Amino acid sequence: MSQPNHPVIAIDGTAASGKSTFARSLAQSLGYVYVNTGAMYRGVTWYLQQREIDLGDLITVSREIEGAAIESRLENGELVFQIDGLNPLPHVREDKINAGVSLAAQVPAVRKLLVAQQQDLARLAPVVMEGRDIGTVVFPQTPYKFFLDADADIRAQRRTQQGEKDVIEKRDKLDQQRQHSPLTCAPDALRLDSGRHTVEELVAMALQHLASQGMKY
Ligand code: C5P
Repeated sequence: MSQPNHPVIAIDGTAASGKSTFARSLAQSLGYVYVNTGAMYRGVTWYLQQREIDLGDLITVSREIEGAAIESRLENGELVFQIDGLNPLPHVREDKINAGVSLAAQVPAVRKLLVAQQQDLARLAPVVMEGRDIGTVVFPQTPYKFFLDADADIRAQRRTQQGEKDVIEKRDKLDQQRQHSPLTCAPDALRLDSGRHTVEELVAMALQHLASQGMKY
């Protein structure tokens, strides 16, 4: 894959570590487009669950995904994601999706399709892209990488405050132990502890790091 002409900022990290809040704020500070790739995996999970597909059945999941019309594009600086003409994004925070998404995300056919779409999206605009494998697999060549984490207790508390039932440790374990594109910190990513800093502090640290990596903003 050739490097897009625009800068790409890669943000990876553990479940409920505050990646979205941080990534959205950083994108806003820079005037970049924010892309949440977790929403794409969640959207695919919603589609499969609607069709009552067993998420552990790799062959059926692959067949369903290869047969579906999955489309990602940017509209007014926002990700639009559709499957067979439907918009799964309003449903993707449901508890059922928290419980199933890491299974669907293990399937190579799902990853192959979504990674290609993420790479295409970054050709359209400068992006802050958030996920689990952005700095390691989707854009390993970008010099702008961050990895967010916080104590498991703090992360669990965050979800409860958001009114969601989530299985964060189970998801992390599945994401870290999967065969393809496991969750891991890229060796050249700056690690940030979101339990010890406010979002404003994290963004300030990130901007300083980007400047040290040669970014002009
Ligand atoms: O970021 P979020 O918690 O919404 O991601 C939901 C799930 O999607 C993760 O637990 C992981 O299984 C999957 N995911 C992934 N690769 C990405 C983004 C998300 O495997 N780039």
